[in-house]
Amino acid sequence: MTDRPVKSATVQVEQASPDATLYKAREKIYPREVDGVFAKLRNLTVLILLGLYYILPWIQMDGRQALLLDLPARKFHIFGLTLWPQDLIYLSALLIIAALSLFFFTALAGRLWCGYACPQTVWTEVFIMMERWVEGSRQQQIRLDKEPMSFRKFRIRATKQLLWIAFALWTGFTFVGYFSPIRELGHNLLTFNLGPWETFWIFFYSFATWGNAGMLREQVCIYMCPYARFQSAMFDRDTLLIAYDTSRGEPRGQRKRGVDSRQAGLGDCVDCGLCVQVCPTGIDIRNGLQYQCIGCAACIDACDEVMEKVGYPKGLVLYTTERALEGGKTHILRPRILLYSAGLLLITAALIVAIALRTPIELDILRDRNALFNETNEGWIENVYTLKLINMIDKPQRFRVTVAGPSSLKLVSTEGNEFTVESGGVQAVPVSLRADPADLADRSTKIEFTMESLDDPAIRLTRVGRFLGPTPRPGR
Ligand code: SF4
Ligand code: SF4
Repeated sequence: MTDRPVKSATVQVEQASPDATLYKAREKIYPREVDGVFAKLRNLTVLILLGLYYILPWIQMDGRQALLLDLPARKFHIFGLTLWPQDLIYLSALLIIAALSLFFFTALAGRLWCGYACPQTVWTEVFIMMERWVEGSRQQQIRLDKEPMSFRKFRIRATKQLLWIAFALWTGFTFVGYFSPIRELGHNLLTFNLGPWETFWIFFYSFATWGNAGMLREQVCIYMCPYARFQSAMFDRDTLLIAYDTSRGEPRGQRKRGVDSRQAGLGDCVDCGLCVQVCPTGIDIRNGLQYQCIGCAACIDACDEVMEKVGYPKGLVLYTTERALEGGKTHILRPRILLYSAGLLLITAALIVAIALRTPIELDILRDRNALFNETNEGWIENVYTLKLINMIDKPQRFRVTVAGPSSLKLVSTEGNEFTVESGGVQAVPVSLRADPADLADRSTKIEFTMESLDDPAIRLTRVGRFLGPTPRPGR
């Protein structure tokens, strides 16, 4: 608590002595419980996000799980919309939107994602809550850690681990329930009929939850998370961050109640250390900006409570920007914000339009590679194709295929021009097209195949192909 801040909004760089070891043993952090506006906001976010995570796979729609990423069947069911491998473009657009959102919110609001919505933060918050229910407050946890092993200590530790493991198993089960129908999965679990892969993934994800949220906690953010490393590239002097107001807080020092800090030559920081005790990564925000800070705002709540008690204005630790800390005016609309938001709006709009206009069928036209064209006994020109009819509708469909082009063009197929394709099926149909050479003005003529559903005439698709013929004779 004796370190003096170098300057607000500067990154701390530690000088290593030549014989210093690169290994640093973990010092266990016992984050103190905090109450306040941001703690309530964080709890609400945890409740909403975890509520969604655990409830979503149980929602049914049209007699089927509404959100199911069915990998074996290569179908993603997303609330009435079924996406197939051919729809990979939508997934790519979604990933681009997610990345751009992250850039946008990081440039605008710093580590808002880390502090409130990151799965590591959310699950760690729940594991810490369970730890507090079982082991008590920060002080009780420190005392318990120092105690030699006894029946009481063993009982408390075992209870905590049992709670953690049960919660982690539920999390792992729910995770697998996004990929394998969760009701069936639950039934198989209760009747000990789980398949080997389902069992593996439930245990793997449960172990990862227990390990990351229960055991590793802040170490995931500090040492493992790549986002923590590159997010500073998205920061600028107008990015929202959490900082200690050095100009107001220093010189820090303890004082008696009612003492006028200015007259005593002190700043507003009473050096109580609460901002450090509540910090889940164990840092002192008064030492300036540090990459370990996940922006959870627990130190703001803690310090505001202290300020209220000692009768000083709140906001000694606050959401601010580097520019504001230097006395300048924060600019919200900046080139990078405008660029990210324009990109985000553009891709989101394109995705919405593409999904709205999406046709759940596909028609691939493959030309016969053996011959450019054939001439029939009647002197007509014939081209041979294989049409691939793809049905991405959840029911079998009957399709009719027609062709448009030169007036004499006709479709010849031993199977007629109506075909039934199973849901998710791809049917290859060999067809021939014949045309009178007198109708062909060029060696390559544009033609159009149309595939329409006889079950739902609104579903139709036209694809362009080429019809090849001989070089037209001059004067024809
Ligand atoms: S310094 Fe404050 S905002 Fe940053 S991680 Fe610690 S408590 Fe959270
Ligand atoms: S909580 Fe506030 S007053 Fe207490 S040490 Fe931290 S900054 Fe200073």
